[in-house]
Amino acid sequence: MNFNTRLIHGNHKVDSAGATNTPIYLSNAFAHDSAEKLEGIMSGTSMGFAYTRISNPTVNSFERRMASIEGGQVATSAASGMSAIYLAVMNILETGDEIIASSGLYGGTYTLLTNLKSFGINVKFLGTIDEASLKANITDKTKIVFGETIGNPKLDVLDIDLVAKVCTDNNVIFIVDSTITTPYLINPLKHGVDLVIHSTSKYINGTSNSIGGIIVDGGSSKYKSDKFKNFKDYTKKFGKLAFTAKLKATIGKDLGAALSPLSAFLNLTGVETLGLRMCQHCKNAKAVAEFLESNEKIVSVNYPGLKSSKYYGIAQKYYKDGASGILTFRLGSKENAFKFVNELKLVKNLTNIGDTKTIIIHPSSTICVTNTEEEKENMGVYDDLLRLSVGIEDVEDIINDIKGAIKVI
Ligand SMILES: *Cc1c(COP(=O)(O)O)cnc(C)c1O
Repeated sequence: MNFNTRLIHGNHKVDSAGATNTPIYLSNAFAHDSAEKLEGIMSGTSMGFAYTRISNPTVNSFERRMASIEGGQVATSAASGMSAIYLAVMNILETGDEIIASSGLYGGTYTLLTNLKSFGINVKFLGTIDEASLKANITDKTKIVFGETIGNPKLDVLDIDLVAKVCTDNNVIFIVDSTITTPYLINPLKHGVDLVIHSTSKYINGTSNSIGGIIVDGGSSKYKSDKFKNFKDYTKKFGKLAFTAKLKATIGKDLGAALSPLSAFLNLTGVETLGLRMCQHCKNAKAVAEFLESNEKIVSVNYPGLKSSKYYGIAQKYYKDGASGILTFRLGSKENAFKFVNELKLVKNLTNIGDTKTIIIHPSSTICVTNTEEEKENMGVYDDLLRLSVGIEDVEDIINDIKGAIKVI
């Protein structure tokens, strides 16, 4: 099956009543006609459903769809993108371990990783993740390299093939957050990534009607090494799928950050149109970026799909179908940025990305308000900078709204 077909039919199980949409199983628990059956399900020796915190038919259907779309072995959903990230890293790390991450990460992830210090886990944030910086920082204690395909809001582009090679050479798990790029633009597992994460709240759901996250497991033999002693029991029994087996048996159950069946249904509906939406997001964002760049009142525009971007070359290598829908631009002062936002009529001022609607935010005073000046600079966030998540409206209407707002600065 090709991409758009998989969005709709990938790993679909035919419903016994003939429903074409996956039914919503709003049931916390599932009854079985024998004690032996429930024993089998709960001890993991037979398939089936017992309790929705562990698994649920609607949630499972969404997980199977995501695994198909990403080209992964299995997928595990979570209540939010943040809980998916937390589950993924804490399923691997132990006290004394190290993680290497980009300093341009999504603010929530940056804080999450920083907070791991209280568990005795050390995080090294690097301004640029490349061969030289990785080689200089990877030690025997390094278990994970964590990056974003395209950083939010820095919009730096990760050279995935290169990082994957260094991770393989050093037996380090490579986790990538592909929320901004989505499987429409890239399947990171095909580039040697071990685990792909999405905040499904964004482009996967598409219309911002539910919060969720997913971890897609590509399978890896890295866990077999002595470095990952905590995986020993799982690699013996589950081989390359040790990560997901351990996740389900330990922290997944412990944390209980399960995706709601209703949210899984909404995500299943939303993801069917991912290809159509992403095509339009990319086209609109490029047009808006080019318009902004041509206007003399705009100090600078950051969009990896622009020739002027320092990431243009690498974006061309991985993202031939477009550079997604997020861009940032600078207006010279915070005052100008606020005036601009206040003048917009169609474009909404709120903290979100990846919606069908065009969205703007002043990151420095909102999502990054608790970060230090130095951290903000590392994240590519300045006092005069706005982040735009370009929607799928008619681009003329988006540009007209922006034109109106530029007049007041
Ligand atoms: C929004 C976002 C997250 C967090 O996801 P939630 O669903 O809001 O918890 C993680 N990473 C990136 C890149 C995001 O944009």
